[in-house]
Amino acid sequence: MLNVKDLNFSYKKTPVLKDLSFKVEQGENLAIIGESGSGKSTLLKVLYGEYDLNFGNIHWKDIEVLGPKYNLIVGYEFMKYVAQEFDLMPFISVEENIGAFLSNFFPKEKKERTAELLEVVELTSFAKTKVKTLSGGQKQRVALARALAKQPEIILLDEPFSHIDNFKKQSLRRNIYKYLKDKNVTCIVATHDKDDVLGFADQLILLNNNTIEAYNTPQALYKNPNTPLIASFFGEFNVINNEIIYAHQLKVVDESKLKATVIRSYFKGNYYLVEADLDGENVFFINDQQFKKNEIIYLKIIE
Ligand code: ADP
Ligand code: MG
Repeated sequence: MLNVKDLNFSYKKTPVLKDLSFKVEQGENLAIIGESGSGKSTLLKVLYGEYDLNFGNIHWKDIEVLGPKYNLIVGYEFMKYVAQEFDLMPFISVEENIGAFLSNFFPKEKKERTAELLEVVELTSFAKTKVKTLSGGQKQRVALARALAKQPEIILLDEPFSHIDNFKKQSLRRNIYKYLKDKNVTCIVATHDKDDVLGFADQLILLNNNTIEAYNTPQALYKNPNTPLIASFFGEFNVINNEIIYAHQLKVVDESKLKATVIRSYFKGNYYLVEADLDGENVFFINDQQFKKNEIIYLKIIE
């Protein structure tokens, strides 16, 4: 288990992380979400031992994770970290990059392991390609495979799919998270993309104002978003009578007290997101068909 207690960190004087405490069990997936600049990357770096804490402690099982003040070389064997800016060896091939830290004393194992990881990140046909000729998204996939090569007990991923195009993203995400679950690797992922979280994360931490604003399962936070910031992570929402109402919880009915005027309909594929004026406030709801501008409609809040 990873046990983080009263973690406090600042680069200089201004605190970036204040009083963070949380636990992650072996094999669990914890997602760290928050707006840009909320400290997600900093938290991963601190967990990796890249910086010294101002206060608090981090333990993986019985081992205390310590920063550069105590360690000549940053990092631990049991932990791997894939940074937002991944650094690969550009002049050697994809498979050489993935196998770079695997022992040459076991050539058969090295070959099998590399082949397995090439499949996980869907780069088998690029095995012999030099990394410098790859796209940003392909490089990100090599970095992921390389971090997994030595089978860490815990992996820290910083926006791991941010450079990968939408065509590949879905299947790659499923591959990686399934691989981590199968191998019982603890995963902490920093992201602002809800698709990285929903369906995969066991626990969710929302960072805001240097501290933990919410910490629970994605299901619990989705059902009970106590603040607009939590709700905004899950999608479009409205605040009606001080209550957070997701766009899909507003339905058009023949008549109701909530009379609104349509402003615009946005095509979203299998539905339309409709923006309307409700007593001078903009509200969003979901509908199968689009409405025309200035059309009068009636809305009802459903559970
Ligand atoms: P996120 O990953 O959520 O976007 P970061 O952890 O990168 O957030 O940044 C958190 C805060 O720390 C920001 O205000 C950022 O400007 C600051 N920061 C990040 N890296 C450094 C650094 N190396 N030195 C000083 N301040 C930094
Ligand atoms: Mg970041």
